[in-house]
Amino acid sequence: MDKTNSELAMDRENLYGAHNYHPVPVVIERGSGVFVWDVEGKRYFDFLSAYSALNQGHNHPEIIRAFIEQAKKLTLTSRAFYNDCLGEYEEYITRYFGYDKVLPMNTGAEGVETAIKLCRRWAYEKKGIRDNEAKIIVCEGNFHGRTITVISASSDPDSYGRFGPFTPGFVKIPYDDINALKKALEDSTVAGFLVEPIQGEAGVVIPSDGYLRSAYELCKEKNVLFIADEIQTGLARTGKMLACDHEDVRPDILILGKALSGGMLPVSAILADDEIMLGIKPGQHGSTYGGNPLAAKVAIAALNVLKEERLAENAERLGKILLSGLKSIRHEMIRTVRGKGLFCAMVIKSYHGKDAWDVCLALKENGLLAKPTHGDIIRFAPPLIITEEQLMECISIIKKTIEGF
Ligand code: PLP
Repeated sequence: MDKTNSELAMDRENLYGAHNYHPVPVVIERGSGVFVWDVEGKRYFDFLSAYSALNQGHNHPEIIRAFIEQAKKLTLTSRAFYNDCLGEYEEYITRYFGYDKVLPMNTGAEGVETAIKLCRRWAYEKKGIRDNEAKIIVCEGNFHGRTITVISASSDPDSYGRFGPFTPGFVKIPYDDINALKKALEDSTVAGFLVEPIQGEAGVVIPSDGYLRSAYELCKEKNVLFIADEIQTGLARTGKMLACDHEDVRPDILILGKALSGGMLPVSAILADDEIMLGIKPGQHGSTYGGNPLAAKVAIAALNVLKEERLAENAERLGKILLSGLKSIRHEMIRTVRGKGLFCAMVIKSYHGKDAWDVCLALKENGLLAKPTHGDIIRFAPPLIITEEQLMECISIIKKTIEGF
């Protein structure tokens, strides 16, 4: 029998591409708002949003407009020269989040690497830690990216296994354990605490109320930088502009990525005040594409859409509906459901040999795309522009799918 276009495309990726992903078997050709279409023309709700890079939805017209206008004029200068967009973006984003300065990078992992460098530099020049002795506390279950230094901070053998030797200087403590943090902070060579306000890749693991606030205060007491990786949780996903806003925490270093470009190109940003940011001098850090004029214009448009369309409010309101809709589904397969804003997860128990992967395959058949993480957790994170009516349709797709097992 002849293969479908989807099968042909998947075969090709398998044959010529590295096998570093295990995608859901759907070949997407087109996207618009909350929808994507496969090469056979079937429409799906996108309930992953490219791991929250598409908070503004696919092909948002305002972001596309900014992209095309700038792409026709100038895309890259490198930082060897000034360009007429970067300063505008830097002023816009620092005012937007209330920091003295921004350092523009591209991917999330680079953003985290940059934050680590800034923290170490601050430790040696401001805190007075002896050279090469600074430590950064991280949490078990974290996901901060895939570079060697970042996986050196990981506790997940899938991330770090057989990729050593690793970068030293990380202290791993359990997540959501304030006593463990207190104890780790007793070491005077600790310079920073790097944390996801909600652990995304771990499966939307939400810490206890008050954890972030207490962690922040402990860091302040010990003159340790509180570094928030808001690459997945930030930019309106959890019902506030930043997940740290839920507990009135202003990170010393804030890392953003993903939705900062609304899905157009890799754009990350590290925000901090002068005392931290000016530790790095010309020639000591950078990136050829970081701060390019195309990224600058796209990021302004992407941030503007979040505010103009009140996407944090939408995530807050519709998140409650999604969570209660998911909780109302009764089935032996569901171990638990959790979420904050439009950032939800369902933990699946194996049932007659069927698991979270099978649920995602069935969801796909029923027109909704989601992907398991850690084998048993399905994250539900639609674009934040979703309407209540669309969300209700999605909840009934999820209900019907689970009840079909
Ligand atoms: N930090 C967090 C919290 C993430 O969720 C991710 C990606 O999923 C990253 C960092 C890495 O971002 P990137 O894949 O753009 O390097």
